[in-house]
Amino acid sequence: MALLEILKFPDPRLRRKCLSVEKVTPELQQFAQDMLETMYSFRGIGLAAAQVNRLVRLLVVDTRSKDPESDRYRLDDMTDLERAIEQPLILFNPVIVKKEGKTTFDEGCLSVPSYYETVERFNWIQVEALNLQGERIQFETDGLLAICIQHEIDHLDGKLFIDRLSPIKSARIKSKIRKHGYPDLTKLAKQEKEDVSL
Ligand code: ZN
Repeated sequence: MALLEILKFPDPRLRRKCLSVEKVTPELQQFAQDMLETMYSFRGIGLAAAQVNRLVRLLVVDTRSKDPESDRYRLDDMTDLERAIEQPLILFNPVIVKKEGKTTFDEGCLSVPSYYETVERFNWIQVEALNLQGERIQFETDGLLAICIQHEIDHLDGKLFIDRLSPIKSARIKSKIRKHGYPDLTKLAKQEKEDVSL
């Protein structure tokens, strides 16, 4: 197990397009586990390989939240479709084959820390991918899980959630980060317990 370094906007390496995986090798399986460990350590709910400087179409997701008192996963804030899917999810070569409806969510991102903005996504998606064993899988989902998968697939195409805002808002945030960088993240981690980074 190893913690990986997460690239942050405006690092140009986040803009590269990731390539499909031909075979899920033991090395890639280990890498996926390292990504999961990295994601959990930063309290993220999703992470794409592009964010840790590797150009493969691989993402890891765990949108479950824990009840702080019992330390058990909360199921009441998930949809039926979300509950039906075993998490954490590790997906190689994920493709959205069907999509429907619209939804919005205040998204954050481990590559754009401390910024949260409302983004519109498809409400329901059907996904094809390879699982950790390299088997072809297909599933449908909605809710936060669908939002998170769309956010992570964007990363594999070099796209960030701040690209999906209105042009004015997008330009304003990007120029602010370029000029001032990010605030002290160790302090922020305490303040923003409620927010989720994808
Ligand atoms: Zn992200």
